[in-house]
Amino acid sequence: MAVRTKVGGGARQPRGTRVRGSQRPAKLPPGIASVLAVLSSSAVVLDSADRVLRASAAARAFGIVKGERLMVSELLALARQVRRDGEIRETEIEVPVPRFGGRTTSFAVRVAPLSGAVGGGGLVLVLAEDQTESRRVEEVRRDFVANVSHELKTPVGALALLAETIEDAADDAEAVRRFAGRMRQEAARLTFLVQDLITLNRIQAAEPIPDPRPVEVDAVVAEALDRCRMKANARGITLTSAGIRGAAVLGAEDLLVTALRNLLENAVVYSPERTKVVVNVATPGDGGVEISVTDQGIGIPERDLERIFERFYRVDPARSRATGGTGLGLAIVKHVMAAHGGRVIVRSAEGQGSTFTLWVPLRQEAVQ
Ligand code: ADP
Repeated sequence: MAVRTKVGGGARQPRGTRVRGSQRPAKLPPGIASVLAVLSSSAVVLDSADRVLRASAAARAFGIVKGERLMVSELLALARQVRRDGEIRETEIEVPVPRFGGRTTSFAVRVAPLSGAVGGGGLVLVLAEDQTESRRVEEVRRDFVANVSHELKTPVGALALLAETIEDAADDAEAVRRFAGRMRQEAARLTFLVQDLITLNRIQAAEPIPDPRPVEVDAVVAEALDRCRMKANARGITLTSAGIRGAAVLGAEDLLVTALRNLLENAVVYSPERTKVVVNVATPGDGGVEISVTDQGIGIPERDLERIFERFYRVDPARSRATGGTGLGLAIVKHVMAAHGGRVIVRSAEGQGSTFTLWVPLRQEAVQ
C-alpha cells in the first residue's frame, strides 16, 4: 500500500516535499534546509529514488521542479551518475521556461552528492544558476569592445591615409600644410575619444562617489559655462544662466562640471548659429536641485529619446562625427548622475529644441 509520508518528522513542509513509498524517507542533513532557503539560484535535493526532497522557490518558478519531480531529464541523468560514483559534475543546459512562454534559458549546473543524510544516503544536490544576466553583461562588454575598435579605426585609418598623401605631396608646401591640419583634427578626435573612455571608466569604477565633498552648484555652472564659451562664441550662440543661487550638493565637482559641460556642448553643436542656450538652476522642493540646459536646436525624435544615453548611440552619426562628437557624452552624464544618486531627464521636440535636466540631491544642511 502506498503511504503518504511527510518529510521532517511531521513538521509542516512546503508543497512538493512529500515522498511516496514504503521505504524510510531520507532526511536533509542538519542546516541544509536553511542554506537552501537563502540561495537565489535553483536548488534541488533528490532522494535515493529521484524524488524531490526539497526545492528552492526559483527551481519551481523556472519549472525545473514540479510537485516532487525533477522535470529536466538531463539533470535527472546527471543526478543518477553522481549518485552512482560520488563525483561532482558541472555542465550547462538549456531549459525551456514555461513562464517565459517556453523560451529557453541557459543554466550553469553543478550536481553533487549530499553526504551526512539521516535515514538513508543517496541524496543528491542539484544547483542551477540562471545565466541570462551574465550572458547579457558579456554581450554588452563584447559590443562595447567592438564599438570602441570601430570608433578608433576611423581616425587611425584617416591618419594613415593623410600621412601617405603628405609624403606624395612633399614638394607642395600648401598641400602639406592643408593635410597636416587635417591630421591634427583626426589626432584631436582620437584624443577626445580616449579622454571620454577614460572618464567613463573612472565614473563606472566610482559609483557611488567614494569620497563625496560639498560642491557649490554656482561654481559648477560658472566653470562649465566658461569651458563652452569659445565654442558658443564661434557659432554666435549666446550662453546665459538663470535661476536660484547658493545651492550645494555632495559629490565630485570635476565630474559634475564634466556632465554639465557635455550638455552645454551638445546644446551648442546641435543648434543653428545665433540661437540661445540657457542654464537654469531650481530647487523644486523634493530634496534635490535641478540644473537644466535648454537650447533652440534641432531637437531629438521621440523614438531616439530613450537610446541617446547609450554609449555610441547617435541620432545622426554623420552630424555627430562632423562636429567632433564621440557618442559618449550623454553616457558619461548618465553615469555621473547615477554616481551622485541623481538622474538626467530629457524633453525634446524635433525642430524645436531640447531641455536636459540634471537632478542631484541637495546637501542635507542646504535643504530648506
Ligand atoms: P555625441 O558625441 O554624438 O554628441 P552624445 O552622447 O553627447 O554623443 O549624444 C548622443 C546623441 O544625442 C547625439 O549624437 C545627438 O544625436 C543627440 N543629442 C544630444 N544632445 C542633443 C541636443 N541638445 N540636441 C539635439 N540632439 C542631441
